[in-house]
Amino acid sequence: MSQYYNSQRITGAYVPNSKDSRNAQRADSKCPNLKGWLFCDFHIHTNFSDGVLPLREVIDLFGRNRFDAISITDHILDKKTFANRRDNNCSIEAITEKDFPDYLKALQKEKKRAWQKYKMLVIPGVEITNDWGKYHILAIDIKKYIDPCLPVENAIKQIHNQGGIAIACHPHHKTSEGKEGKQLSARLWDEHKKYVNLFDAWEVANRDDLFNVIGLKKFNYIANSDFHQPWHLYSWKTLLKSAKNVEAIKTTISQNKKVAIYLYRR
Ligand SMILES: [Zn+2]
Ligand SMILES: [Zn+2]
Repeated sequence: MSQYYNSQRITGAYVPNSKDSRNAQRADSKCPNLKGWLFCDFHIHTNFSDGVLPLREVIDLFGRNRFDAISITDHILDKKTFANRRDNNCSIEAITEKDFPDYLKALQKEKKRAWQKYKMLVIPGVEITNDWGKYHILAIDIKKYIDPCLPVENAIKQIHNQGGIAIACHPHHKTSEGKEGKQLSARLWDEHKKYVNLFDAWEVANRDDLFNVIGLKKFNYIANSDFHQPWHLYSWKTLLKSAKNVEAIKTTISQNKKVAIYLYRR
C-alpha cells in the first residue's frame, strides 16, 4: 500500500482500476444514517496540487458517497519551499498565483454540477502551505489568492476579510504520512496561545490521526480527511447540525455548537 502511495505521488497518475479505487466505489451505498446532520469534509486535494484524482472525479466520489458539503483546498506554497523544489527539480505540487483564477473557475463550474447532480455544496478553498514557517492553514470560502508567506495572524485576517473561515491544519503530530509528515504545523501548536482565538476552528482529527490535545484544550474543532488518494475517503469527518448553505455552515463551525466528528470506515 505504501509503495502504491509513493509511486502515485511521484507520477501524479491516477489508475482507474486500482484496488483502492474499486473499494472506494463499492462503498457508494454504505452511507451512514446521519439524519439531521450534514456529512462534511473540508480538507480535500485534487491534481491541481498533489492529489491523485482530477477535480471532477473527486466531486463524483464524494457526491456518490452522499456528502452534503465539501471544500476543495489545494496547496498554495511559500516562496522558499517553492524555490527549493524548483531548484532540486522536484515537482511543485501547488497552485501558483498565476494559476489561481483557472483553479477558481474550475471550482465554480464543479460547484454548479455538484449541486445539480448530488445536492452537494462545494466550497472553494486553499491550504496555505508554509513549510518554511511550519504552518498549514485552510482558507475556506475565499474569493482571491492569498500570499502563503504572510505571518499566521495576517493570513487569518486576509481570509476573514474575504468572508472566509480559517482552520488550523493537523496542529500536532501527524503520523498517517510517516516520518516526513510529522509536525507540518509545529508553529501552530508551539504558539497556540497566540492563535487560539484567531482561528475559527482547529483540526481535532486529520485522516487517521486524532489530536487529543485539541479536545483537552476545548478549542473549536472540526475533522477532515486531508484527501489525496481514493482510500483517504475512509477517515475522520465533520458532522454539522446546520442549514445546508455556505453561510450557515461557516457560522456553525466558528460558533462550534452542534459540531460532531465521525470516523467513516468501509
Ligand atoms: Zn497540510
Ligand atoms: Zn492537506
